[in-house]
Amino acid sequence: MKIEVLGSGGAVTTPRPLCFCRVCRKARRLGVPHQRTGPSLFVHGPDLLVDTPEESAFQLARSGVQRVAAGIYSHWHPDHVMGLRVWEMSRDFRRWPREERPTPVYFPGGVRDDLVQRLAAGNHLEFLESQGLIRSIVVEEGTSVRIGDCTVRPFPLAEEYVYAFLLEEADGPRVLLAPDELVGWRPPDWLGPLDLAVLPMGVAEFDPFSGARRIPAEHPILAAEATFRETLEIVRKLGARRTVLTHIEEPDGLDHDDLLRLEARLETEGHPEIRFAHDTMMLTV
Ligand SMILES: [Zn+2]
Ligand SMILES: [Zn+2]
Repeated sequence: MKIEVLGSGGAVTTPRPLCFCRVCRKARRLGVPHQRTGPSLFVHGPDLLVDTPEESAFQLARSGVQRVAAGIYSHWHPDHVMGLRVWEMSRDFRRWPREERPTPVYFPGGVRDDLVQRLAAGNHLEFLESQGLIRSIVVEEGTSVRIGDCTVRPFPLAEEYVYAFLLEEADGPRVLLAPDELVGWRPPDWLGPLDLAVLPMGVAEFDPFSGARRIPAEHPILAAEATFRETLEIVRKLGARRTVLTHIEEPDGLDHDDLLRLEARLETEGHPEIRFAHDTMMLTV
């Protein structure tokens, strides 16, 4: 199984529009791996697209992906869904009669309802469905989906509207993909041993090098999001053979070189398994 990081940014991508901080200037000058587009993953093998941020069509065009067999959404937040039109943009409209079948797109639990109610995306989804581009499939709680040789089990996190995915192949790797929102989450025992966990990095409440506070203690984001330190605790509990941290926010003020330095320091602190994601990163498991 290969997991491609199509986009390693968070809700705020890098460079951020209007920002000329050190991190954003470097990203404009050097591009990838400093530049980060919105959060999305592609699983080669089952050919599964996980989430579609605004840059989804750009990300797929930039990648070597030639086929998307299915899509799945983790939650309704705009940074994970606002590139819905990728399902339209990836088709060759000249072909007639249309031979392609609609792509199955999986919505665990209430995720499709959330898109309709929170983002008024119902008409957009119905348009994609009516054009034969996608087929929406709601995945009931506790149900797995079979995509190619891969079993995908969505399950809710502590924030119950947000889903993570356990991917398993017979005699193959066991992979956890958690695109966002680990706040308050305790890894359940049933998850079992993992070959790879892809997790959101969490908010850098403190500068990871100096320890200086970067976000005021009373800032509401600290109640809503897991911090980087809390994420490290989750990484430790999960005990995956490899962990890749993604959903890296521009406001955290860390560029790609800083994160390489942080990897080296985490290694000395007993975390040799942690890497930070960048756009186009390919993970083989
Ligand atoms: Zn997000
Ligand atoms: Zn900036």
